Amino acid sequence: MKIFVINCGSSSLKFQLIDSETEQCLAKGLCERIGIDGGMISYTPDGGEKEKKNVDIPNHTEAFRLVLEALMNPATGVIKSVDEIDAVGHRMVHGGEKFACSVILNDEVLEAVASCNDLAPLHNPANLTGVYACKELMPNVPMVGVFDTAFHQTMPEEAYIYAIPYEYYKKYGVRRYGFHGTSHAFVSEHAAEFLGLDYENSKIIVCHIGNGASISAVKNGKCVDTSMGLTPLEGLVMGTRSGDVDPGVLEFLANKEGMDIKALLNMLNKKSGLLGLTDNLSSDNRDIEDGYRSGDEACVRAMKATCYRVVKYIGAYAAAMNGVDAICFTAGVGENSSILRELVCEHLGYLGITIDPEENKKRGDDNVISTPDSKVKVCVIPTNEELAIARETARLV
Ligand code: ADP
Repeated sequence: MKIFVINCGSSSLKFQLIDSETEQCLAKGLCERIGIDGGMISYTPDGGEKEKKNVDIPNHTEAFRLVLEALMNPATGVIKSVDEIDAVGHRMVHGGEKFACSVILNDEVLEAVASCNDLAPLHNPANLTGVYACKELMPNVPMVGVFDTAFHQTMPEEAYIYAIPYEYYKKYGVRRYGFHGTSHAFVSEHAAEFLGLDYENSKIIVCHIGNGASISAVKNGKCVDTSMGLTPLEGLVMGTRSGDVDPGVLEFLANKEGMDIKALLNMLNKKSGLLGLTDNLSSDNRDIEDGYRSGDEACVRAMKATCYRVVKYIGAYAAAMNGVDAICFTAGVGENSSILRELVCEHLGYLGITIDPEENKKRGDDNVISTPDSKVKVCVIPTNEELAIARETARLV
């Protein structure tokens, strides 16, 4: 089956066309600045050159039209007609407590997704816009929603509940939901297979560290805790997000700087993390690594704070699961930053972990970076959320 995998933001549309039998990505690309001046589409067929075109894209329907045009281009396209697309898999950000697994997107389901909009006001409406635009152009193709929150729905109450008045959970569903679930599921399951562990009888910690970052504890194939919360702001130090802070900081800064809640949240989401810790030098881990190597004070601070937070969560999750068999690093930073992995693992001697520096330098493939005598296996597993969405979609249709 040919599966069209879609990740729709408010002004962007990322896509891949994946053959679900061979699991090959036939083509991929991105529309940017939808509804904003200076629109752009990029398109890369498998094994071909990346093409970029500047074109105004007034709305998501037009974006889908341009993408289909690229996919069917007689010279560089990979299909001849829309009929060759068997199903569409949409990445959906927030499924609240309604969706613990992927679902076929029918009218009833779309209504239920819209009822979660309050929980993700930036992301869910954009995802839905994408679904409706896609439906307009491909009305007869089955569509599946794969939720970022679904994998974390197995968390026990003690892990997902915030110790604030319980009525807010009952009234509004205020609790920990977690994100990057598709990646945590893909990586933990794949790691078990790669390491020869029985997934249903294993304790795995997944560190998904990219621009956004989250960590999860997966016991016997089920998520039992994760660091992101009601929103993707909680937990680890990220590119521009603070992760955990004392909420008292908000009142303190509101008084000192005259900031309202919107300004405070903007600061925590957009001006904090690596960017904030380096006095606006960069939110990009590559820059931070360069600075760390040359001893730049701000980069050393940012790197150490980032790694320390990961170390603390690993300790907490090893305790939560009463042990750990494997720790996996994934996503842009987790897969590429040997320095981050080294700095984190330096603190894990108490778990009987030793790292092989040569293996830790390698990049690109699934790899074990711990020494053979290490009590806990540490590995790098490249994530592939698009493939995970394609698999889910093929399974459901
Ligand atoms: P997201 O999907 O959350 O936007 P990614 O998973 O793509 O983020 O990760 C982006 C991060 O990965 C950036 O901080 C970038 O610096 C980092 N990264 C990418 N390549 C490398 C590399 N070779 N070495 C170190 N960090 C890298």
